[in-house]
Amino acid sequence: MLQFSDLPALTGGTLLQLPAAPAAMQRLLLDSRRVETPADSLFLALRGPQHDGHRYLPELYRAGVRQFVVQDDVLLADFPEAGFLRVPDTLAALQTLATHHRRHFPIPVFGITGSNGKTIVKEWLAQLLSPDELICKSPRSYNSQVGVPLSVWELTASHTLGIFEAGISEPGEMARLARIIQPTLGIFTNLGTAHDAGFASPAEKVAEKMRLFEQVDTLFYCADHELIHAAARRQLSPARTTRVAWTRQRARFDAQEADLLITMQEAAADRAVVRVERARPRPQEHTFTLPFADEPSVENALHGLSVLLWRQVPPPEIQQRLDRLQPVAMRLEMKQALHDCYVLDDTYNNDLAGLRLALDALARQARRGRRTLILSDVLESGLAGAELYARVASLLPSHGVERLIGIGPDISRHHAAFQGLQTEFYPDTAAFLAAFQPEQFRQELILVKGARRYGFERIVAAFQQKIHGTVLEVNLDALVHNLNFYRRRLQPGVKLMVMVKAFAYGSGSAEVANLLQFHRADYLAVAYADEGVDLRQHGISLPLMVMNPAPDAFQKLRQYHLEPEIYSFERLHDYLSAAREAAMPAIHLKLDTGMRRLGFAEEDLPELCRLLRENAAHLRVASALTHLAGADEEQHNNFSREQLAAFARMTPQLEAALGYPILQHALNSAGIVRFPEAQHSMVRLGIGLYGVEASGQEPDALRPVSTLRTTISQIKTLPAGHTVGYGRRGQATDHERRIATLAIGYADGYDRRFGNGAGEVLIRGQRAPIVGNVCMDMCMADVTHIADVQAGDAAVIFGENLPLTELAARIGTIPYELLTNVSERVKRVFVAE
Ligand SMILES: *Cc1c(COP(=O)(O)O)cnc(C)c1O
Repeated sequence: MLQFSDLPALTGGTLLQLPAAPAAMQRLLLDSRRVETPADSLFLALRGPQHDGHRYLPELYRAGVRQFVVQDDVLLADFPEAGFLRVPDTLAALQTLATHHRRHFPIPVFGITGSNGKTIVKEWLAQLLSPDELICKSPRSYNSQVGVPLSVWELTASHTLGIFEAGISEPGEMARLARIIQPTLGIFTNLGTAHDAGFASPAEKVAEKMRLFEQVDTLFYCADHELIHAAARRQLSPARTTRVAWTRQRARFDAQEADLLITMQEAAADRAVVRVERARPRPQEHTFTLPFADEPSVENALHGLSVLLWRQVPPPEIQQRLDRLQPVAMRLEMKQALHDCYVLDDTYNNDLAGLRLALDALARQARRGRRTLILSDVLESGLAGAELYARVASLLPSHGVERLIGIGPDISRHHAAFQGLQTEFYPDTAAFLAAFQPEQFRQELILVKGARRYGFERIVAAFQQKIHGTVLEVNLDALVHNLNFYRRRLQPGVKLMVMVKAFAYGSGSAEVANLLQFHRADYLAVAYADEGVDLRQHGISLPLMVMNPAPDAFQKLRQYHLEPEIYSFERLHDYLSAAREAAMPAIHLKLDTGMRRLGFAEEDLPELCRLLRENAAHLRVASALTHLAGADEEQHNNFSREQLAAFARMTPQLEAALGYPILQHALNSAGIVRFPEAQHSMVRLGIGLYGVEASGQEPDALRPVSTLRTTISQIKTLPAGHTVGYGRRGQATDHERRIATLAIGYADGYDRRFGNGAGEVLIRGQRAPIVGNVCMDMCMADVTHIADVQAGDAAVIFGENLPLTELAARIGTIPYELLTNVSERVKRVFVAE
């Protein structure tokens, strides 16, 4: 086991201080929010464009971490018991450690790269080889410069095979990943046509990716990707590397450019039959059935199939393993459930690494209340039962789990490992469901994690009993993508306030706020004090601005530390009298520079400054802000610039009166894109976070966050001449129609103006117009032109391919209104990949 004192020689760094008590370095820690076992962790302070690990050293030290690798100087006196190593580049040091670790395990290791399918090929290969091997593989898609070293670090002496994926975005990156993975086998999945900003040409990209395989013994790939085929022949030495290529083209096979000819015999909706011909070592022919038929899945499976054939697994056995292939679900969903509970539903595969990721997600939730884990037997771990469940048990307290419900014979047998937790055990899922008492779950977070064969979707359904057919799905990854888009546009040091008013634009305030807290936004803003109280009750501790606090809410402001926006003398006097009695939170001064809605005007400044000066002892000002009236439209540019100029004139006077600097902010989402010069010290991000690019200048930069989805309750066939719905408004036609009744109406927030053809929904990927009036709880769509529609099918109201901007324009409103109208009775489901 590596010691801290070994690090200087290994990394070429400078030892600043040895730890007072040397300990093993089991875990590599990069994120101060993920401390599990501080004593045996080594923290590496990475620095990226939006992140600097050095900022969290004191926090980590307080949490008990004692071993650090840094690239800046540190004040050692603040960390008397800790060991510090300084290196020029902490990321390079991380990679060096992983490279060193990998050298201890002389086992075969697959490296996988390609444009698409890396993660699925990796997971399927692991499924196909798991009967023969104890496999260490990258969790999810940990394939980056940071993810690869972390994955490789997980290798232990019990593993017999490694499978690691590698993803790159710039030249030079693959050589580094290849050094860490040291693959002996390779799979090049495919080459997408997507333009890669980091590369001059597709040929350059493929050459860079191929570098992963320069030392492998065997490379598997599809020779029909011409660029891959050419690069493999050019770059890999035939003396060193055997190429196992498969093709679907007989001419290529006959010309001996590929070893396997794979042809599609038959494709049904849910399976495909393929024939495989081999010329060597002797001519052979086999037929296999794949349990799916879509082209990407077929290609991904064929890579795995070619590996099994090369390993000489008998064909009947190959077929059995193919039959057991499971779709790779990468999503973690958080679902509203009964009694104010939330269920974290993780269908990702059930090994220790997957469990740890799910527990991390659970621990990241700020929401208060008990945390329960419902866990099946952990399969695919490669560890003996006692050791395995001891490892599982050691993870639970540090992730806040208080109660464990174990389901399965194995976990039940090892119940003794979980002493100290509240526990229940059941032999199988049916036994749990038979004993299920909903009253025993209240206001808690429940992580449901089971191997597929346990059918835990039945447990999730039991928790969601009364959910009606309409859900708003909020994609948290898209939200983070959008957050980062705006962050990249900020000048260094500019802070970010995020508007989570109006239920976070309809998306669910507590969950969105939790994510923003995790991603370290600087400030949040809501409209009313009660919204702020709700966030505090859900564990949100970020500074919070309340834009419109009524005087009768001042007590709450104090109690929950909510900072009010003050926009008039009247409010200021009210607040001052409260502040004279007891300390009140800092305030934000709203300046009216042209919106003519709320705020102090320029001519109010002398009086305002006088009041601030006189009350300096008991009133603290956190910021001054103004709001642009036309930030999203070019035609108002001059007006916007005048507003910004007025703001720039007014704020220095405030600071002079106060005698200390305050934050200053003027830009909303559209403003961030259109007036980069006016960021001041903070910006206020709103609709952009939720996926609507209001300035129109960057139409493709954001990802849609919300999908409103309902189900078809019934399909009716309507003879020619019949009308649909109330008021007989659905126009009769001269032909027979099929009409789908959808389980959404204006009480769910579906606007009545979408009635009678103004609106469209997506069913089976096709657009269907709304017919007749939108009713309170339902509406009707014409699906005559869509084949195979059935009751129970999903209908998308808005989301990908049905953008909010377009729908809003159809009824003469703005996306803001459509988003915030979605009624709170519609259940929110939060998904992350
Ligand atoms: C809502 C709001 C914003 C955010 O506006 P978007 O257009 O959604 O980015 C910014 N500032 C104030 C004062 C707001 O009320």
